[in-house]
Amino acid sequence: MTTIAFIGLGNMGNPMAANLVKSGYDVLGFDLVEDNLKTAGANGVKVVGDAASAVATADVVVTMLPAGKHVVSVYNDVVAKAKPGTLFIDSSTIDVDSARQAHAIAAENGMLSVDAPVSGGTVGAQAGTLTFMAGGAKDAFEKAEPILERMGKRSVHCGDAGAGQAAKICNNMILGVSMIAAAEAFVLGEKLGLSHQALFDVASTSSGQCWAITTNCPVPGPVPTSPANREYKPGFAAALMLKDLKLAQEAAGSAGAETPLGAQAAELYSRFEALGHGGEDFSGIINFLRSDTEKTTA
Ligand code: NAD
Repeated sequence: MTTIAFIGLGNMGNPMAANLVKSGYDVLGFDLVEDNLKTAGANGVKVVGDAASAVATADVVVTMLPAGKHVVSVYNDVVAKAKPGTLFIDSSTIDVDSARQAHAIAAENGMLSVDAPVSGGTVGAQAGTLTFMAGGAKDAFEKAEPILERMGKRSVHCGDAGAGQAAKICNNMILGVSMIAAAEAFVLGEKLGLSHQALFDVASTSSGQCWAITTNCPVPGPVPTSPANREYKPGFAAALMLKDLKLAQEAAGSAGAETPLGAQAAELYSRFEALGHGGEDFSGIINFLRSDTEKTTA
């Protein structure tokens, strides 16, 4: 039976590991937080005392950690302790440079590696409907695919080392910018006496159509399942959107790409978070834009 080590059993990692257990894999898990280990144990994960013990007997290692520094640190600690040829899958959302560093550590030790960040959030992690965006060598991706399939509904091989992270932050930069554009349009529509439903009916079927309008509509009413209908309870928290927009800006800086709207979106979400709204759904930015507009037009 394939043994999988799962390191990082937080909001995303725990339900993902649980889906691997349900699929019949032998899953060894480690996290720094006791409560997360208890949840993992209750889900059928075999909890071990440290990351190195999880990795030693594993055929595949999955990491789901907060940021690049955690991934590189865990890789530095454990990769050399794995069996040669072990497949390392990092599903955290991290900066492209750290992702490439993690691949290099794996390669130096004779391991296979894939960066495979996800889209779909905690709901997708629980339901096993995540989308994976993967980077790494073709043989590593082909070996990872059946495992990713157990935690998600789709995986796309985007290219070499770091390409999964690159795709993730480019996608989320589109999302952050388009949510602000959609929110600005609803605020302008309000000032022009346009009902939310009328603007939705037009924009959702015209050239302004986008996910931020049709699925995560920032005003209550037109899309009953959007977070705006439950006081902007996430969904996708504004703090996580800000994290991804900052990663996109870091990547744009190191790659020499001009992303003026991405930079502006990062700035607006920074101000929104600084006002204490980081835990709200990112569509809540409409309330910040509305009050900003009121201030500047008063
Ligand atoms: P989380 O904070 O709930 O989980 C991260 C876990 O990593 C924590 O339990 C922490 O204790 C553990 N950890 C940190 N350092 C460790 C170490 N050295 N060894 C073992 N465990 C360690 O975060 P999350 O919401 O599960 O997100 C994980 C990753 O997935 C992040 O990179 C995030 O950006 C990304 N992501 C999250 C969502 C979401 O909706 N939550 C959606 C897409 C992507």
